[in-house]
Amino acid sequence: MVMGDSEASMGTAGSAAEQSAKPLAQLTVGIVGLGLIGGSLGLDLRRRGYRVLGVSRKVVTCDRAVARGAADAASVELSSLAPADVIFLCTPLNVLGQTVEQLCPHLEPETVLTDVGSVKGPIVQEIEPLWPTFVGGHPMAGTTEQGIEAALLDLFQDRPYVLTPTAQTPAVAVERVKELAIALGSKTYLCTPEEHDRAVAWISHLPVMVSTSLFQACRREETPTVRALAQQLASSGFRDTSRVGGGNPELGLLMARYNRAALLASLASYRESLGQVMELIEAEDWDGIEATLRQGSEDRPLFL
Ligand code: NAP
Repeated sequence: MVMGDSEASMGTAGSAAEQSAKPLAQLTVGIVGLGLIGGSLGLDLRRRGYRVLGVSRKVVTCDRAVARGAADAASVELSSLAPADVIFLCTPLNVLGQTVEQLCPHLEPETVLTDVGSVKGPIVQEIEPLWPTFVGGHPMAGTTEQGIEAALLDLFQDRPYVLTPTAQTPAVAVERVKELAIALGSKTYLCTPEEHDRAVAWISHLPVMVSTSLFQACRREETPTVRALAQQLASSGFRDTSRVGGGNPELGLLMARYNRAALLASLASYRESLGQVMELIEAEDWDGIEATLRQGSEDRPLFL
């Protein structure tokens, strides 16, 4: 079930009750992984008056995060996040679990953990047993860049922010993360981790694979002068359709690894749709093609 932001009522109240009494603006927020998403969260949260403590793998990243205003202080030591009330886990998907294992011994039981990973099912399954006051999350915002230099103010403004609590998630922890997401200017949604993964397979992970396949296909042009001309003529249409396939390869790889089943299902459906389009063109069924294109222009506003 997917719910809008007025219906954050899933889960049960738990040990975060005391912590929820603290006014939002007085919270200390921790961020692990000071890259595009972690750095952008830090910039926005600091501008809104929160104290932000950052942790990243490299000292140089920590220094840049402080210099850019994405953290009040930053360190390579996870223990430095002990004072944080809420911690955003913003590392790549494949190190989220080990990060939480190393972080847990330094935290008070009421500290709320939330991640920003692009896949939720396996991540929630991995982290929830390690830290009960954990809320799976995914801000639906990004660029093709990565690292602290790519961090942007207002990245989350007017963007969806999905939370994926389970029956075990304390309601007060969900509420805390939701309040922060709303403070970032995002529109919040609640759904199960599985619903999230199926939905983002269609609108995020499938487009990345389609877009990267577009480059693969173009490379097959046999005549070098035609291929070079195509590269020179590429303009706004190609920019729009290729953008997500030309981004951070590590992110795309981890989407495919962690959301494999849902991504394969959406790719199979896409292959079928492409096959239908080919059949219509082969049969010179121009009415059929027109109907397909018309359907596309009617459907687009339903998504964007
Ligand atoms: P990113 O720009 O590469 O940032 C990740 C940062 O994490 C790196 O800059 C790296 O900093 C740090 N890091 C890596 N391993 C670490 C470790 N073991 N401990 C501490 N820090 C570590 O990637 P991103 O795009 O922000 O993605 C981060 C998360 O956001 C991912 O889980 C992704 O699924 C999710 N997400 C991404 C997007 C998007 O469009 N990019 C959108 C929504 C959600 P150092 O320089 O210190 O190594």
